[in-house]
Amino acid sequence: MTQDTLLGKTLNELTDIVKLLGLPGFTSKQICDWLYQKRVTSIDEMTNLSLKARNQLKEKYIVGRSTPVSAQKSQDGTIKYLFGANENQFIESVYIPDKERATLCVSSQVGCKMNCLFCMTGKQGFSGNLTSGEIINQIESIPESESLTNLVFMGMGEPLDNTENVFKALEILTATWGFAWSPKRITVSSSGLKKGLLRFLEESQCHVAISLHSPFPDERLSIMPAEKAFPIKELVEMLRQYDFSKQRRLSFEYIMFKDFNDSPRHANALAQLLKGLDCRINLIRFHAIPGINLNSSDEKRMFEFRDFLTKSGLHTTIRASRGEDIFAACGMLSTEESKKKADE
Ligand code: SF4
Repeated sequence: MTQDTLLGKTLNELTDIVKLLGLPGFTSKQICDWLYQKRVTSIDEMTNLSLKARNQLKEKYIVGRSTPVSAQKSQDGTIKYLFGANENQFIESVYIPDKERATLCVSSQVGCKMNCLFCMTGKQGFSGNLTSGEIINQIESIPESESLTNLVFMGMGEPLDNTENVFKALEILTATWGFAWSPKRITVSSSGLKKGLLRFLEESQCHVAISLHSPFPDERLSIMPAEKAFPIKELVEMLRQYDFSKQRRLSFEYIMFKDFNDSPRHANALAQLLKGLDCRINLIRFHAIPGINLNSSDEKRMFEFRDFLTKSGLHTTIRASRGEDIFAACGMLSTEESKKKADE
């Protein structure tokens, strides 16, 4: 019999489990404490639970922690971790230290259905959703776990295509019975899946980042098939209904492709599209991937683009590239090779 994992379960779910086992109600809070604060790896370590309770739990459950299968360190200090997931699959998480910040870029799916032209994960296709336990495990099982200050759901997969597990993970991360992280330290990125985005905006206080990449629908469609079902103009109108002037931040990601989306005409259209919206724009250098005929804009063009947007009243920054030498930078995550090796 395969055992279910406790990691990734919410307080309510654990309460149901302890009820079914006939254990005292307060046991669920104790289990949360062992899982998310004390971060144990086995049920035996939950020493304030009676021996009988531990044995009952062990019949059906394991904690479900697993350490990374491998780690690759970049010259700039970025570390890419490979984790096992589902059956015989792999996912990657990227640890990015930066002065007093330490960010983990978390994956939410094995591969991705969105098929963005510029992204290695998209090329690999979709093999399955991660469970909430597999999402939490990335955060809890890297050696630098205790020093993390920020989380970004920008790794492999489209987080809002796996809402059930991502929302559960966000609840565990931000609840007082869980990790008690401030939602201000967590950003969820999306290509704009409307239903999931609406639910996210209603239920979560975490920051949101939307992949934009072109203000022109046809052009955006040519690199992001998601534009067809979720046109960026409609998404922006929808986002205007929400207040981003307080704690929660809205940002737009804009990868800059040479002679494709980096002209003054683009900057102008982008400024018009986002006019009056409380948001930030992150300009991102494109990291070349095999088989794709796109190049990154040069620095001068990126600075001009940023300056135009800033003058138009939009808070715009150029995101520093990290981990390019180990294929850990934006759009470069893929576990196809690891899977092939595991199959050999
Ligand atoms: Fe999926 Fe994001 Fe890659 Fe697009 S950029 S294919 S949404 S992982």
